Formats: sequence, C-alpha cells, structure tokens
Amino acid sequence: MTHNSTSGRPSVLIIGSGFGGLGMAIKLKQASFTDFTLLEKSDRVGGTWRDNTYPGAACDVQSHLYSYSFEPKHDWSRKFGLQQEILGYMERCVEKYRLADHIRFHAEVQQATFDEPSNQWTVTLANGEQLTANVLITATGQLNQPAWPRLNGLEQFTGKVFHSARWAHDYDLSGKRVAVIGTGASAIQFVPEIAPKVARLDLFQRSGAWVLPKPDRAFKRWEHTLFRRIPVWDRLYRYLIYWKNESRALAFTRFRWLLEFRARQSKRDAQRLVTDSTKLKHIIPDYSFGCKRILISNDWYPAINRSNVNLVTNPIDRIDETGVFTSDGHHHAVDAIICGTGFRASEFLSPIQITGRGGKSLNEAWQTGAAAFKGITVSGFPNMFMLYGPNTNLAHNSILYMLESQFHYVLGCLESLEQYPHSAMDVRQDRQDRFTHVVQQSLKNKVWSSGCTSWYLDANGRNTINWPGFTFTYRFATRRVDTADYQFLYPETPN
Ligand SMILES: Cc1cc2nc3c(=O)[nH]c(=O)nc-3n(C[C@H](O)[C@H](O)[C@H](O)COP(=O)(O)OP(=O)(O)OC[C@H]3O[C@@H](n4cnc5c(N)ncnc54)[C@H](O)[C@@H]3O)c2cc1C
Repeated sequence: MTHNSTSGRPSVLIIGSGFGGLGMAIKLKQASFTDFTLLEKSDRVGGTWRDNTYPGAACDVQSHLYSYSFEPKHDWSRKFGLQQEILGYMERCVEKYRLADHIRFHAEVQQATFDEPSNQWTVTLANGEQLTANVLITATGQLNQPAWPRLNGLEQFTGKVFHSARWAHDYDLSGKRVAVIGTGASAIQFVPEIAPKVARLDLFQRSGAWVLPKPDRAFKRWEHTLFRRIPVWDRLYRYLIYWKNESRALAFTRFRWLLEFRARQSKRDAQRLVTDSTKLKHIIPDYSFGCKRILISNDWYPAINRSNVNLVTNPIDRIDETGVFTSDGHHHAVDAIICGTGFRASEFLSPIQITGRGGKSLNEAWQTGAAAFKGITVSGFPNMFMLYGPNTNLAHNSILYMLESQFHYVLGCLESLEQYPHSAMDVRQDRQDRFTHVVQQSLKNKVWSSGCTSWYLDANGRNTINWPGFTFTYRFATRRVDTADYQFLYPETPN
C-alpha cells in the first residue's frame, strides 16, 4: 500500500495511538492534512492508559493539565485522573475529531527504511505488509515496553507471574501469598489496593522511594458546574496548576535546598505512618531526594505498615518452583509474582529497525546513547519526527505540555517541506550535536546525576530521558522551525 501524497501535501505515517499519536493526528487534521495514518500494534487507542490497568492506576499530574489544552474536559471526577477516565477521554477525542478512519489496529511496525532515490519512508508491518509515505512520525512513548527483571529461575516458577503493565485481571489475588518486585511508581499505586485482600505480600525492595502526599480528592458538583458554565475559570484553573507544577522545576534546576526541605516532609510522614521501626529504617531512601522519580501517594506508608506486608530488602538470589530465595538463604513461598519493575525507557525506538540515509540504522547512530535535535529530529533520518523522544521527559510537570510543543514544531516542519516541494529535511549533525551538548552539560549538575541508579540513566550512565529545565524553555525552543538547522534533500525522481 502506498501513501503517496495525492493532495500535493506530504503523506504521513504515525506509529502509535497514545496521547502523542492522537494529538498529532488531531493537529494534522486541523491543519487540513488528509493523508495520514496511525499504525497501532494493539487493538485499541490509549497507549500507557490502555496498557496500565492495574488496581489504583492513576495520573500524578492534575487532570486539567493532563489533557490536551485544546480539548478541555470540565467534568473530571477527581483532581488526579484515574486510568479508565483518562482512557475514556482519549477515546472521546477519537470520536470528536473523527480519527477512527485514520487508525489501523493490529499494525505493529517492525521496520522503517528511508529510500533516498524517492525520499520516502517504507514501513514494514509484522504481517509483512509494506506502506510508504513522505513523512514518518514516531509516537511510541518512552514507557511502552515493560522491563522484566533478570532473575535466575523465574521460568521455573509454577505459580502466576505477570507484569504490572499487563495486569492479569483473570487471576484472583484474594487470600494468596504474593511477591511484588519493585517499589516504583506503579507498585506504589497497586500495593495499597491489593494488600488488604491478599494473605501475605512480600515486597522486594532494591531501594526505597521518596514519597509525598497526593493532594487528591473528588471534585464537588458545584465545581463541575463552575468549570462548565465559566470556561474561562476552567482555563485559569489549568493555568494555575501549570505554574504551581512548573515552580517545582526551581528545586530541580536552581535551588537544590528546596529538595532537602521536601525530603524532611517525606521523612516526617514516614515516621508518623510507619510504626514498625525495622520497616521505617528501610523505607527511607539513602539517596538524594529527586534523584529517582518522586512518588505521590496517601496510602503507601499505611500499606507498608500493615502486618501482612513484609518488606524484604535482601537482594533476590533466585526463583524456584514455589517462591523467591533471597541472598540470606531465606525462601519466600508465594502463589504469585507481580513485577512492578517499570519500563525499558532508554531503549526508545530500538524494537523497530529504523534505517536512514546511507543504510545507517538508528541503533548505530545512537551507539553512545539516544540523542535528537530538540528531542525530535535525528541527523541522517530525514523527514522522521519523534514525539516524546530523547530528553523530553519531565520529573515535575505534564508530558502533554511537552507533546503539544512537539506537535507545533512538527507542523512547522511540514510547512517547511511544503515550501520546498518533494524535499526531505535532515537536521544538520553539528546543530544536533550542539543541542545535545548543551542538554547534557545542563544535566551534569542536576540531582538525577547525584549517584543513584534510575531509569533516567542509560547503560552508559547518561541521562537520555529528562529535559533539564523549565517546560516553557522547551516551548520557546520549539516555537518555530529554523530551516538553517536543516539540509533539504531532493529525490532523484520527484514523487
Ligand atoms: C503507569 C504510568 C503512569 C504515568 N503517569 C504519568 C503522569 O502522571 N504524568 C505524566 O506526564 N506522564 C505520565 N506517564 C508517562 C506517559 O507515558 C505519557 O504521559 C504519555 O501517555 C505518553 O504518550 P505517548 O503517546 O508518547 O506514548 P504511549 O502512551 O506509550 O503510546 C505509545 C503507543 O505506541 C504503540 N506502539 C509502540 N510500538 C509500536 C510499534 N512498533 N508499532 C505500532 N504501534 C506501536 C503502543 O502500543 C502505544 O499505543 C505515565 C506512564 C506510565 C507507564
């Protein structure tokens, strides 16, 4: 199947239908692009919010800000959205903007190759089908591929094993002995939900998490009425949340002592809510506040304090048929193992074989770590635009704000392409290198590099995940496309 531009405008293939892919599609439609297709490996839109259905799954950013700025929802049930409601919001966007005809489900992209003579991308799906287009936009997210722990003997375990991002809803945990591996952002949400119903929960912790209270509650009826009747109040509310969250970047970027202040608050909460002194000793992290993702929860410490929750800090040695052996030789017999071990964040697009100019693969280009100009374009990969790419994750605000900056920039690129018909734009290597250098220099003295191991760092210890500053700085950097940053290539035969 060929997606040659019929309208004289570039044809576009988007990989993924999470917030990135859907938002980009809406923006393309609003800009009167008609020739675009979203390729989704799953059977439903939603990405993160389709896959993470574990009990208690919810957002850590306030609903009014964790939604598109151009598509307000006035009746969010809570201050912080729950998974199902967020997924419902995304599905309503598909309906409202009539995107269904543009989405192909069960379309897993395995390869994408740039063909220099024609200036086109050819995408190969898992079923062998090939599609071509002028432009490739990747919206595969950073937190899409579950990370499984490498544990000796896991395959021998005869009980139930699953990852929190693929929750086994058909498995009843009531009265079961359960091992939970990991104490990250997902575990902190599902452990308090399952702890009251399981017989025993062995929580295997490599390092503690810094936890702050979640200022969450249901919205009242009058608040919904206000948001609906006075839309400007809804927008002002969003604006206030944005600046409140943005002010946290000051602690990450400028005033590290503010982090110390928050650490003291977290310790005080732990001391108040965890009465078991051994658990308390282990639950408070020994690394700097903010080095790993700061978590927010009101029921984590009470859950840890439960008598049926056993906090295990000895490293896991191996798994056998019936449970988990720790390094002290203790055997923890369990019926189920739940891996709350996060995602392979720094691998980005690597499951897809992407080949650019001169037959160079993206994995080769990224041998020393993922890098992209403004987190969006990679030299040698013309007309390929990444959403939520390297160094565009945040520790303090909504990813949707970053994605919207990227939609704007990509649309700017497509407009540039229209100015140079049939061309493909390739970011200049020196511009990309300069941008990467500035970002990496800026990350050097940040708390994320203060010595802990976290998913922010790749195998080489380089932070290829986080944006080092304010989100408005990123918006400023992506506000317009400077064509001087790009080389425009022409095909041998115009298409
Ligand atoms: C549990 C959890 C909680 C989170 N909480 C927050 C939060 O509180 N605040 C915040 O700002 N962010 C949060 N995030 C980050 C979240 O991922 C982003 O906010 C946002 O949802 C990313 O959207 P995306 O479209 O870029 O990626 P995703 O939502 O990951 O969507 C990617 C899509 O691409 C598809 N795909 C991947 N590979 C292929 C392929 N080869 N072929 C075809 N389709 C493919 C996937 O199936 C998926 O549908 C959270 C993430 C997780 C996992």
